[in-house]
Amino acid sequence: MTTGEPTTRDGLLARAAEYAATVPIDLDVAQLEWAISERARRRAGCCRYDADSGEITVVLTWDAYREFGWDEFVGTIRHELVHAWEFQRFGESGHGDRFYRKADGIDAPRHCRSFTDGRLELVCTDEHCDWRPERHRASKPVRQPDAAYQCGDCGSEYVVRHRTSGRTWRTADGYERAREALGDDW
Ligand SMILES: [Zn+2]
Ligand SMILES: [Zn+2]
Repeated sequence: MTTGEPTTRDGLLARAAEYAATVPIDLDVAQLEWAISERARRRAGCCRYDADSGEITVVLTWDAYREFGWDEFVGTIRHELVHAWEFQRFGESGHGDRFYRKADGIDAPRHCRSFTDGRLELVCTDEHCDWRPERHRASKPVRQPDAAYQCGDCGSEYVVRHRTSGRTWRTADGYERAREALGDDW
């Protein structure tokens, strides 16, 4: 097994195929094709099926991988493997009950992750400052905003805001509590 985060497109494809073989799903992963998409907007991955040849291609979005990092991106791979499983078994795939049951069975996210809108934002606490950068990943400034990080414009403290829930935090403890409270809605 390779370790560390892939840094090239070829590296990501090889690692994804290697990872797929470790997922406990009754799917012939050796038959899958893998490809990178540079252009997909909003979708971290997709699964293509050619009904004539039976060829199944898992397409991974490079920018999404760059934003999520490997540890989160494996969720996207698992999600697409469920589509691949449906295509291989049933010749069709969607987000129906069968999909959800299988996704739950291998601990895959039920929904295709989107990635163009940052999940998080850092918000300066100074009311006269409009510094508000987006963040996609739980990087250290997100996990530990109190670890000597500050607004990139004026140097004030900032809060981290989880956009869909509106939840905010300013400390490492606050991050842990938010993460726990949000659970699958993270
Ligand atoms: Zn999907
Ligand atoms: Zn500021």
